Amino acid sequence: METVDLLAGLGRVLAEGIVADRDFPPFARAARDGYAVRAADLAEVPAQLEVVGEVKAGDWPEPGVCSVGRGQAVGIMTGAPLPAGADAVVMVEHTSAWDQLSGQPAATLVEVLRTVRSGENFVPRGAEARSGQLLLDRGRRLDYASIAIAASVGKSRVQVFPKPRVAVLSTGDEVVDIDATPGPAEIRNSNSYSLAAQVQDAGGEPVRLGIAPDERGRLRALIEEGLRCDLLLLTGGVSMGKYDLVEQVLGELQAEFYFTGAEIQPGRPAVFGSCGARAPSPHRKYFFGLPGNPVSTMVTFELFARPMIEAQAGMAPRPLIFLRACLKAEIRTKTGLKRFLPAVLSGEFENAEVELARWQGSGDIATQARANCYIVIPPDRERIDAGEWVSLLMQ
Ligand code: AMP
Ligand code: MG
Repeated sequence: METVDLLAGLGRVLAEGIVADRDFPPFARAARDGYAVRAADLAEVPAQLEVVGEVKAGDWPEPGVCSVGRGQAVGIMTGAPLPAGADAVVMVEHTSAWDQLSGQPAATLVEVLRTVRSGENFVPRGAEARSGQLLLDRGRRLDYASIAIAASVGKSRVQVFPKPRVAVLSTGDEVVDIDATPGPAEIRNSNSYSLAAQVQDAGGEPVRLGIAPDERGRLRALIEEGLRCDLLLLTGGVSMGKYDLVEQVLGELQAEFYFTGAEIQPGRPAVFGSCGARAPSPHRKYFFGLPGNPVSTMVTFELFARPMIEAQAGMAPRPLIFLRACLKAEIRTKTGLKRFLPAVLSGEFENAEVELARWQGSGDIATQARANCYIVIPPDRERIDAGEWVSLLMQ
């Protein structure tokens, strides 16, 4: 458990429940600018009421000093406490104020033009929450709305769970560090960085272990190092190639595999398992072997690794929800695998439209960076027509 300043808690997971320290609102709170009245006085309108005072936000209308009797009204501003005797607020737009003697517009008499119901235009004390009520659960990830709640109950510091440490290991003889000048057949290690960014976004602490060559000894040493973290993410080396050694090396380390391969594209070769199966569960170390193609790495992270990191971060499980949007242009594809294809979501207000980004396959990060979501295509669909509604995985 850690205690952090409230704003430093953004994106962290609460290790404590947050409880209302008083009623919300703490007093019957005017929701409009106008006059606090007794609704029964306005059974017939227009009606004239005597203005006997004014309460602005921050004022406390002491009963006996400032209250509303029969035929009376008190000027009131949004956010101010409702004086005793009143049971409604009439909006200033529905009144006109007149001076009793001169007949000039002033503040001693108010003419009310519309009726109000008892209870209208104010929020009763405790209507939003009662003192002692749980407002945020332990396990809630702090977003701006929950920061507002914590602030409103005076929590300037909050208790959060520690972030899980997530090792990120790229593999491949062709992969070089981003500061190196790549040789003609080499490519820079973008996956370690995209994965580290995704880990951070999911609430984990990335630990980049660099690049393992396609060579057993070095790969094994780095995997063993990675298994000291809470979770290990590997990219590359899980396909069917002669030099795809990740599964073999994990096998040497007595890994237990929960799945080897998924019926999805991109991302089919992804594997998930743990080492130290006989150890009690906090000592068991989980890993994902994600395919090396950059878009495959990103998609499989979202589908499989993100929920795991969220669970390790102490977050309550939440369902994977696919939003839906209207397809702009027909899609033709092959059946057999569930597909996650980079796409561009556009449109305005309630008219969400989406179309595929034209990509060169799961290595094409240039197109993927222009996309902002993935269209999810069920495995049995060969063709989806323009105008159909499709599911989206947001980027
Ligand atoms: P693999 O899964 O090892 O067969 O790699 C599939 C493809 O992804 C190959 O074209 C690799 O060069 C590429 N790739 C593998 N690892 C990385 C990485 N860390 N960064 C960028 N591309 C990679
Ligand atoms: Mg490789």
